[in-house]
Amino acid sequence: MSRVMIVNDSILEGRILLDLLSRRGYQVGIARNGFDALTMARTFHPDVIISDIVLPRMSGLDMIRRLKEGTEGYDIPVIFASSSEAKNDRLECLKAGGSDYIQKPIDHEELILRVEVALRHKTSIDSLKRREGILRAGSLRDPLTGLYNRRYFDQKLAEELARVDRYGSILTLIMLDIDHFKRINDNHGHLVGDKILITMAGRLKLNVRATDTVCRFGGEEFAIIAAETDLKGAFTLAEKMRETVANEPFVVSDDLALTVTSSFGISECKRVNETAQTLIDRADKALYEAKKSGRNRVEWLG
Ligand code: GH3
Ligand code: MG
Ligand code: MG
Repeated sequence: MSRVMIVNDSILEGRILLDLLSRRGYQVGIARNGFDALTMARTFHPDVIISDIVLPRMSGLDMIRRLKEGTEGYDIPVIFASSSEAKNDRLECLKAGGSDYIQKPIDHEELILRVEVALRHKTSIDSLKRREGILRAGSLRDPLTGLYNRRYFDQKLAEELARVDRYGSILTLIMLDIDHFKRINDNHGHLVGDKILITMAGRLKLNVRATDTVCRFGGEEFAIIAAETDLKGAFTLAEKMRETVANEPFVVSDDLALTVTSSFGISECKRVNETAQTLIDRADKALYEAKKSGRNRVEWLG
């Protein structure tokens, strides 16, 4: 059911509009001035607003300017109702961000039609926004492995670091890189390399808990954000992953199974002055140590 908010300080006019719109099946809310309207908009979430211009406390024009400043109210169409016949008043309403203007005394048939037009507009904006949301969600995944991608990783890590700041929770980051992956590509071709990456993603996901986030960091590098996990826990998790990768050959086809190993670097969030970059840098450094010490290993920097 669509929601209409009436902003009107006259009890009589308000009642007439309330009855008219309610009978048409709209859910109707009434605010008595611009200030009231702004407060009410936050909880009532109107799909369209019908507002007077002259109102006590805050005028209709000031109300709409404030409404349009916020991201929430930006798309709500506002129809102004006024007894003024001056062209300039109508123009002021549109300049302030109003989408329509209706002359008082209000013709009911005309008002209903104008409300319907405004609602059609609002509905199409809402559906565009929803679709944009879905598209954005889609681009948070890596198309090859189906894991979260780097963009999501950045967002998620920032969120988790904020939680550490706010609640003092703990956090570790595990980075891993497949050993000698170039050789796999060189010896068996890129498509085989791709299959290894897909299987790798599956094996990593099978080993984590629901609170861990597995991402494809880039190329043949993966990152696991382990929330509420200390260094010891992350080490155990990384060791388990290292083993499931190394101990079981990756079946590529009926006549090809490859043994793959990977190296791991872990960093623990220090809380003081920790940023995503410092956390990533330390995990990277640890990973470099693991490579240097012979690969197929887990190293950490607390
Ligand atoms: P190291 O043990 O030191 O990590 O050696 P490496 O060969 O794994 O390291 P390097 O970073 O030199 O090579 C990574 C290779 O991964 C190079 C690149 O062609 C390959 N690669 C990156 N992304 C993809 C992908 O999406 N598919 C395939 N098949 N290969 C990829
Ligand atoms: Mg690499
Ligand atoms: Mg590598």
